[in-house]
Amino acid sequence: MRIIRYDDAGTARWGVLDPDGTVRAATGDPYTELVPGAPVEGEVRLLAPVTPSKILCVGRNYADHAAEFGNPVPKEPLIFMKPPSSIAAPGDEVVYPALSGRLDPEAELVVVIGRRGRRVAAEDAMGLVFGYTIGNDVTARDIQKSDPQWTRGKGFDTFCPLGPYVDTEFDPTDVRVTCTVGDEVRQDGRTADFIFDIPTLIAYVSAFTTLEPGDIIMTGTPPGVRPVRPGDTMTVAVEGLGELSNPVVAEQA
Ligand code: MG
Repeated sequence: MRIIRYDDAGTARWGVLDPDGTVRAATGDPYTELVPGAPVEGEVRLLAPVTPSKILCVGRNYADHAAEFGNPVPKEPLIFMKPPSSIAAPGDEVVYPALSGRLDPEAELVVVIGRRGRRVAAEDAMGLVFGYTIGNDVTARDIQKSDPQWTRGKGFDTFCPLGPYVDTEFDPTDVRVTCTVGDEVRQDGRTADFIFDIPTLIAYVSAFTTLEPGDIIMTGTPPGVRPVRPGDTMTVAVEGLGELSNPVVAEQA
């Protein structure tokens, strides 16, 4: 099933995306029971398809990406968080902060948690997974480097586009992850090249925090990271999960 959230005259609602592109309104909750209903008439404005209490992220989970910034391959997962206030919907503008001089998109596969869990063993970890979507871990690279913590550099409003849908039957084992700006494919990697696989990441983060339904784990970004400017559009694609596009705009004073 492909699950979306959409705007219904100012109210966020769950929906289901049929294989032919039809959006159906849905009742219930995706993590307990979601019941698809009638097709939604007219144009549908998608929202981010998750409302996480926590956005957990992994730094340097592709060896080639660690190398491109001169970082060693980590011996254990490097975890940081983005605030839920940084979430942006498909198509939303990403604001280039006046405080930053270098903004980078980061194309990422996103794991969506469907069941509560704490201290979950790697061999049991996939039982917590609800589905997968696409994320863009937008980063003010200069601020990330100048601050000892990554909170500002990773946490500005609009720095976490997510979507367009959560696919509950997706196989993430070996899929292509790309970021395209204009006609240029910049980032290009495969999830088979993860340093830490999804069960390892779930076990690692659940050792310190309780995972809740709707929480997400952003799995790191492949090599090819390069900056964008206002006027650019960032398109992140994960093979089999569609595309997530967001324009970059300059911050207004
Ligand atoms: Mg990242």
